[in-house]
Amino acid sequence: MNQLSNRVAFVTGASRGLGRSISYTLGSNGAKICLVDIDEKAAHETAEEMKKDGIDVTYYIADVSVRSQVEQAVEEAVNKYGKIDILVNNAGVLRDNLLFKMSDDDWDTVMNVHLKGAFYCTRAVQKYMVENQYGRIVSISSTSALGNRGQANYATAKAGLQGFTKTLAIELGKYGITANAVAPGFIETDMTRKTAERIGVSFEEFSKNLSDTIPAKRLGQPEDIANAVLFFVKEESSYVNGQILYVAGGPAN
Ligand code: NAD
Repeated sequence: MNQLSNRVAFVTGASRGLGRSISYTLGSNGAKICLVDIDEKAAHETAEEMKKDGIDVTYYIADVSVRSQVEQAVEEAVNKYGKIDILVNNAGVLRDNLLFKMSDDDWDTVMNVHLKGAFYCTRAVQKYMVENQYGRIVSISSTSALGNRGQANYATAKAGLQGFTKTLAIELGKYGITANAVAPGFIETDMTRKTAERIGVSFEEFSKNLSDTIPAKRLGQPEDIANAVLFFVKEESSYVNGQILYVAGGPAN
């Protein structure tokens, strides 16, 4: 079980949903967890629960779209744990709207959290990974990268993360660092509950309609994504670099 002992993981947006599950999975496999989020109450609660389960975890409050906050969190994490081996760029928000109704703020917020956030975190962390000649970077993209109605901003950001990932793989490969992305389909979290709310249907109805269209006939669970992340961050996955893994209960198209 302790495949990641002596590894330190920095996971953004980790206080709930996918980030929480990813942190739990990496922590249960022996990694020390630096949990990063803007939601202090939820971060504190999640960290306390993880500690009860024997995971070594510290939380940092930082908005990933603010460079100074990211750099401070990275510095504090390195001061505490001595290094960062694993970075998971997971923090994300939705500001869905059809193009003609999409505001500048809807666009900028999504670009800033997903793209600038991943850029700031990766740039700050790679320095320590290069020093140690070891690193695993996983960014959370989405099937929306292939295009999705009402998500011009989000689809662009998630496709951008795929280009970012491939470029990191090319630039950082020689330092023992891999960069990969997991692109989830519909996973049951607060984010998908809000989508159901926005389109005005109950989550049960939303979930049933959607499940019928998915080959696996169910929505994904956060653990489905956490297991894919675990694969990429294992030491043995050192030759898997620059890949995008769709985890969507069927082929994404
Ligand atoms: P969620 O809304 O449940 O959780 C997102 C977390 O990110 C929250 O804890 C939130 O506080 C944090 N966060 C938001 N903005 C932040 C910021 N600026 N700085 C730091 N933390 C911030 O979402 P989720 O469903 O768990 O999604 C996690 C990631 O997976 C996102 O990048 C999302 O786009 C992606 N994703 C989710 C799904 C899905 O179906 N749930 C599908 C594809 C991709």
